[in-house]
Formats: sequence, structure tokens, C-alpha cells
Amino acid sequence: MAAFPFLNLKKLNQSLATEVGAAMEEVLAHGQFVNGPEVKQFEREWAAFCGVPDSVGCANGTAAMHALLECLGIGPGDEVIVPSHTFIASAESIRLTGAVPVFAEIDPDTMLADPQSIRECITPRTRAISVVHLYGMPVEFDTIAEIAREHAIPVVEDACQAHGAAYRDRPAGSLGTGAAFSFFPGKNLGAYGDAGAITTTDNELAARLHLYVDHGRTAKYEHLVMGTNYRLDTLQAAVLLAKLPHLREWTRRRQALAARYDEILSAEPFRSIPVRLQSAPEGSVSAYHLYVVRVPNRDAVIQGLKEKGVGTGIHYPIPCHLQPSMQEFSAGEGSLPHTELAAREIISLPMCPTLTPEDAGQICTLLHEVLEKTGAPTG
Ligand SMILES: *Cc1c(COP(=O)(O)O)cnc(C)c1O
Repeated sequence: MAAFPFLNLKKLNQSLATEVGAAMEEVLAHGQFVNGPEVKQFEREWAAFCGVPDSVGCANGTAAMHALLECLGIGPGDEVIVPSHTFIASAESIRLTGAVPVFAEIDPDTMLADPQSIRECITPRTRAISVVHLYGMPVEFDTIAEIAREHAIPVVEDACQAHGAAYRDRPAGSLGTGAAFSFFPGKNLGAYGDAGAITTTDNELAARLHLYVDHGRTAKYEHLVMGTNYRLDTLQAAVLLAKLPHLREWTRRRQALAARYDEILSAEPFRSIPVRLQSAPEGSVSAYHLYVVRVPNRDAVIQGLKEKGVGTGIHYPIPCHLQPSMQEFSAGEGSLPHTELAAREIISLPMCPTLTPEDAGQICTLLHEVLEKTGAPTG
């Protein structure tokens, strides 16, 4: 295995194997694998973590965002603004309602949706703005909320990478009308399979969502409204409950690692090599799901790091608007130049609560060696 794996999920999960195992054993003992008591308890605890009155457990993050948009009444003929620089699920969840994604450009410094571009994407058919706290970094929410207010449309948060992040002291997941979270195993809070949740400050919306994810069911074989099966299963809820008490500490460790990366990469000898960091919007505190920098000759840098035992990732190499699946809704290559350039330059450095600030020092030393060889222009 690489000396510095990109993410050491096995090590992280092994550190909690006893607690998680015991929680799963309890579910095996009571046998309520669907709608068991752990689901309600997790919904309560997740809501508390996000500072909202209610949360709705969900099968995964994509389903969570789809359910949220659907319960806001979004459907065919509607448009939802979303950045192109994100995981495909941000756009898919919009398509699942029958609405059309309208792709916004990023601010090249934050790599998050540019409020000015969002404004330009508004049409008479715009029904919502979906903001993505990409890499765990909350968007410039107040500016975007102001645009939404002017047009009387909701802002929804794709918080699938932002567990424990904050904007002006408010938790991600409590900023918009509603938010979608993913507990995919590699997320900052990860299940042992697929899982997700929706948070909202709107109690009526929460009630609709609770019905929607469980066949619109009010009692056995009584279905009040159209719904589907997007339930969070009990075993995953039990795993999440066992892991949740550790999330704040894991987030602190991610932030400490990122702070050390920031410090080293903005000082000599990196100053003469253009390594570009993600800047934070005013008031945003990232949960650092990912630590992403931009470098010239990205693919050669990745290869060089691999040879030195440093695992990396690209999040994401192809923007949504250039995906064949989204062709119909895209103006194609060249239409979002900042997004397209970022996709060519980004590299995700190792980010995991099992890594220490000292590891960041060693990783940066190796990165510097690689950058000197890959012929990064100096100056
Ligand atoms: C992971 C992720 C999703 C989707 O979550 P799943 O649980 O995999 O469906 C959506 N948006 C973003 C930004 C993500 O990172």
C-alpha cells in the first residue's frame, strides 16, 4: 500500500469496529431491518448535529436531493441552477424530477458556483438554486440567498461533502430551505454501504419528505400522496449512530491537516511554483472532505506522486456540462471556461482523519520534488 494513501478508510473504520459491531448486533437481535428505532434516533441526532428541527433518513445522497426537489414541487418545465463543477449526482437529482439543470460557472478562486453566474442563469422558468459546498467548503451563501429572495425561489444545499462545515457560524445543512447529505462510505461520515439524509428548517416540508421517502404511507397499505422507497435502512442508521459521536473530532483532524497544507503550500519553496489553493468565501469554514489544489501538468504530477507512494484523486475530471448524459442541457466545450480549466488542473491530496500535520509536511516535500521534475514554470 502507498505510504500516504489518498483515504485510509479501512484504518478509520477499524478504529471503531467494536462500537459499530455492537450497534449492528442490536439490530440483528431486534430484527426491524426497515423502519427500526435506530432510523428515528439517527434522524433526531443528525438534525441536532446540523442545528435544524428535523431530518429525514434517506437511501443515499442522490435520492435525498431528488426527494427534496420533488417535495418542493419541482418538475417538468422547470429549471434548477447548479454548478457544473461537481459530482454528477448534483445534476442527476434535478433531471430525476423532470426539470432541467442550468449549469453555472465557478469562481476560479473558490471553485464554487459564482453568484454572478447564478444571477445570469436566472430565467422565468427558474424554480430553485442548488448550491454545492464542494470539497466541504460552504458557498458564499448570503449573496446567493439574496438573488433567490429577489426571485422568490428556494436555495437547496448539496451538502453531500460538507458534514460539519459552517457558514457565518451556521452549520451546512441549516442554511437553505433544505439540504441533502450523503453517507457514502468515503464521505466524512460514512455508512457501511449507501445512506443519506435531508435536513430542513421547514416542518411542513419535513412532513412531506417523511411521507415521500416511504411510499407516501400514513398507515399500513394507506398511501396519502405519491412517494417512493427512498428509506434509510436500520443497519446503516445503527452504523451512523455509532460513528456520529466521533465526527467532530474527525473534522478537527481534517481541518488541522488542511491548515498545515495551507501553511506549507503558501510559503517557500512553493511560492516560486504555482500551486493554487482553494480560497474560502468570507465566513466559510470547510469540513475538508477533500483538499484540492491546482497545478500545471496535472497528470504528470499525479504519476510522479504515485511513484513516491502518495495517493491522489481528481474531483472531478469531466464537468457535468461535458458529460454525454447531460449533452442536451449543455452549450458544450468552451461554454464554461473557468470550470473546464479547473477540471484540467485540480488534484486532490491525501485527506483523512488518520493523517497528521506531520504527514502533510512529508507529502508536501514529495510534491515539491515532483513539481520540480514535471517542469512547472517558475516565476
Ligand atoms: C457523494 C455526492 C452526492 C451523491 O451521494 P450518493 O450518496 O453517492 O448518492 C451528491 N453530490 C455530491 C457533491 C457528492 O459528493
